[in-house]
Amino acid sequence: MVKQSLIFDGNEKRVYSTDDPATVIFHFKDVATAFNNVKTAYFPEKGIVNNKISAYIFDYLQRNGIHTHYIATLNEREQLCRKSENIPLEVVVRNYIAGSLADRLAIEEGTKPSTVIYDLNYNNTELGDPLINDTQAVALGIVSFDDLKYIYDTAHKVNSLLLELFTPLKIKLVDFKLEFGRDTDGTIMLIDEISPDTSRFWDADTDKRLDKDRFRHDLGYIVASYKEVLDRLMSRENK
Ligand code: UDP
Repeated sequence: MVKQSLIFDGNEKRVYSTDDPATVIFHFKDVATAFNNVKTAYFPEKGIVNNKISAYIFDYLQRNGIHTHYIATLNEREQLCRKSENIPLEVVVRNYIAGSLADRLAIEEGTKPSTVIYDLNYNNTELGDPLINDTQAVALGIVSFDDLKYIYDTAHKVNSLLLELFTPLKIKLVDFKLEFGRDTDGTIMLIDEISPDTSRFWDADTDKRLDKDRFRHDLGYIVASYKEVLDRLMSRENK
């Protein structure tokens, strides 16, 4: 497998083609963005830490029956992934209220809702990734109702698996964002990344934020906190 040309240069990641039309290479940068790219900063090594965390989580999910784009880690910043046709939706799974939902409904951050909440957003930066509902997503031609059923079932399974992964590590899985795409056979798979950039991880004892909220709210120690998540995941391997 040989790396070829840059096909997408995002804020936090780059995607390269390879000599195999069924695969791409994901490259994790050291840039952080927030509030729909209004706030941007550079954090040395963030990309290395996120590449490791996301690869660990995708490998874990795949070993537990979730179809994902992840194939292998190539080096400290890059992973080989199945090529996908991206579905322009973001599914946010919330075990606790935080962030935009806490603001929008005026509910205190950290409140546990009586049921897990699933939000659907239209992945469209120009529009600010607005919330949409299932019928809007189908009407826009983005997905079918069967696709949505598969996506929600997968999000539910991923949440159960991530709770099993993080709870013993004393990390509260507050919320996280998932993206989906279609592989070359048209089958829906989990894509993108799962990391402290796309999730809220709180220390279970102290509620210390171990995620991008440290950047959003200028709490400092961003990469150190991401490393804490990585160290706890790695500690599973030494048991
Ligand atoms: N999230 C993300 N990308 C986005 C929007 C949200 O990865 O474009 C993640 C975010 O990091 C958090 C969860 O999804 O873990 C829920 O975010 P929320 O809707 O509360 O929005 P935010 O607080 O980021 O505005």
